[in-house]
Amino acid sequence: MASIAIDRVDKIYPNDFHAIHDLSLDVEDGEFLVLVGPSGCGKSTALRMVAGLEEITSGALRIGDRVVNDVEPKQRDIAMVFQNYALYPQMTVRDNIGFALKIAKVPKKEIARRVDEAARMLELIEQLDKKPAQLSGGQRQRVAMGRAVVRQPSAFLMDEPLSNLDAKLRVQMRAEISRLQRQLGVTTIYVTHDQVEAMTMGDRVAVLKDGRLQQVDTPQNLYDRPVNVFVASFIGSPAMNLYEAVLHDGRLQLGSHKLALPRSVFERRPALRRYDSRSIVTGIRPEHLQDASLAPTVTSGTTITSRVEFTESLGHEVIVHFMMDAKPADPGNLEGADVVTSSSAVARLDSRSACGASDEIYIAVAVEHLHFFDIDDQTAIWD
Ligand code: ATP
Repeated sequence: MASIAIDRVDKIYPNDFHAIHDLSLDVEDGEFLVLVGPSGCGKSTALRMVAGLEEITSGALRIGDRVVNDVEPKQRDIAMVFQNYALYPQMTVRDNIGFALKIAKVPKKEIARRVDEAARMLELIEQLDKKPAQLSGGQRQRVAMGRAVVRQPSAFLMDEPLSNLDAKLRVQMRAEISRLQRQLGVTTIYVTHDQVEAMTMGDRVAVLKDGRLQQVDTPQNLYDRPVNVFVASFIGSPAMNLYEAVLHDGRLQLGSHKLALPRSVFERRPALRRYDSRSIVTGIRPEHLQDASLAPTVTSGTTITSRVEFTESLGHEVIVHFMMDAKPADPGNLEGADVVTSSSAVARLDSRSACGASDEIYIAVAVEHLHFFDIDDQTAIWD
């Protein structure tokens, strides 16, 4: 096992494209770290640099105590699992799993022992004599995992390993990979563009955008305290509702809606006082909007009245899309959003909520859970 330290790493491709900017990340021994971000943000580039498949332009990469910038991939003692599994179609599952050991000239008996152990762990015993074409997608994925496991590497590097599976299998394999990783205690970097996968699997999650690290933290901290508008909008499903607003003497003018903020909101964020009479970005998670007609008590000044656009019933809750008369904040480029004056909001309401399309709805806002961001640099407002 080993820690992985990415220290001020940059990647500039030969065509001068600057894909990774000054990336620093410490992955602890035995930790499961997820790299997440939208397509093209540089996740695979970062992982491939750790694997040694892509040259590092500047900065240092350490695996354990060793700087490995110039170490060949084979000598880095890591095992990669790719999206396409890269199985050999003509070989049996047994030979696929043991192939790397055979190449490394591990004695036959030892190969058989390790393959057997991995197959047992991954519930592949019955499949050992089959060819990949005879397996289901989930079984093929497990064979790919088996190939990584038998090598007993210091680290696993996984690049979207579940993206070829259907939704149900993906959920199942998510749990299996997490369990296996915990059982083996192997340091793991896992790349995905799926924030739900990131949140459910990672001990910590690193969010990348445009080749720049935005935040690295536990899933819960990312959700509760996103450092900027981008992380706030990227983490969470349905996404956080984000609008421009103005603070006035303890009240938040949110388009045509006015919300009274309790003192506790300012006590937790001393810096918010400095934003009086200024525009800010405010965020409301969908679960912090409730059907006021179902609430036992509603504090005055914390409700908005609106019209329902459409609803999606999920059985245990109903997702309600309604009009929000406020200017939406653009997580990518706030200045680009200056022409929109009306927008939608999403609420996760109790399934007892009886509202339907075009109904007027009375919504209670959990104002103590609002998020606030600087409108210029888009960073969260706290201290
Ligand atoms: P995805 O989720 O779509 O796989 P990603 O976050 O993994 O995306 P990368 O594959 O790391 O993104 O690519 C990051 C950026 O670097 C992209 O803009 C891509 O076009 C660019 N890029 C990748 N490989 C090269 C290359 N060999 N030469 C030049 N640019 C490249």
